[in-house]
Amino acid sequence: MLVVMKTDATDAQIARVIEIIKAMGFEGRPMPGAQRTTVGLVGNDGRVDGSQIESLDGVAEIIHVSRPYKQVSREWRPENTLVEIGPGVVFGGTDIPIIAGPCSVENEKQIVLAAQQVKEAGANALRGGAFKPRSSPYSFQGLGKKGLELLALARKETGLPIVTEALDEEGAHLVAEYADCIQIGARNMQNYALLKTIGKLGRPVLLKRGMAATIVDLLMSAEYLLAEGNMQVILCERGIRSFDPSTRNLFDLTAIPLVQKLSHLPMVADPSHGTGLRDKVIPMGRAAIAAGADGLLVEMHPNPEQAMSDGGQSLYPDQLARLVREARTIATAIGRSISPSSGTATAANG
Ligand code: PEP
Ligand code: MN
Repeated sequence: MLVVMKTDATDAQIARVIEIIKAMGFEGRPMPGAQRTTVGLVGNDGRVDGSQIESLDGVAEIIHVSRPYKQVSREWRPENTLVEIGPGVVFGGTDIPIIAGPCSVENEKQIVLAAQQVKEAGANALRGGAFKPRSSPYSFQGLGKKGLELLALARKETGLPIVTEALDEEGAHLVAEYADCIQIGARNMQNYALLKTIGKLGRPVLLKRGMAATIVDLLMSAEYLLAEGNMQVILCERGIRSFDPSTRNLFDLTAIPLVQKLSHLPMVADPSHGTGLRDKVIPMGRAAIAAGADGLLVEMHPNPEQAMSDGGQSLYPDQLARLVREARTIATAIGRSISPSSGTATAANG
């Protein structure tokens, strides 16, 4: 349930609404808007009788949210939520940021060079996994804490905010110390214990769609994060399993406008895992921008042939620069823009 306050409602009237909701056994969350404040009632699983609140001073109306993913829904919040992961790197607005970098952090030289190339290409944030979810236990599992330290070094060199995955509850706390945005991977989208833990960490989160997850499954998983009080959530389409092995996954472009209609959260696209094939990443990256994506997540490696994971779908640095250029043209055609290059090296400033 949502309690919409009148435009001239006083702080005391808002506080009274929250107090009454508390007395009813729920939690009232104030959400100041451009015109007026809305108080969301959380903690209930079904319809709540709002008659007691409806008559309070300052209350304009009560709205019952029909979706099971309540706080994630556009009913709850009609305007887009903006998620800022670094200075000026904002998802959900007119500007479209691009996150790029290798699948895995491999060593200092690789990640620092990758970060410089990401920046030179005009992208806005650096990705790279320190904890890797691999299909085989014998494959490279990531550098762990060392990888996080190297990401922090790459951020220091370039100023780019970093996006990196947390695989489990224990690692999540460590990842939160380094990451500007914590990635929850496709395989963990429905790891509800992990969602609860990460929801409490107070960091922006990038939540990837599970490979066999419906749109509603994705939104319900995001609800776990919002239920913990974290609104800073970016959703990501990364391809779903299909019967056809021609591509690694089936990149579901429709998911972009679908999610944007149902939710106020930004929706980005990952054409790298979405296709698994380097030469399909640029076309699908362009298509995602045309479909209205609020950002891209792209794998790029300084030397894809030597990559320790996902080399076959990683762009060469010059291909990333091309994708950013072409994305810019497409964004302009639909009244948006690719975020201006961001990040200044902090190393140069001491
Ligand atoms: C990744 O981003 O490298 C990754 C493992 O992604 P996903 O969880 O979508 O497979
Ligand atoms: Mn990868």
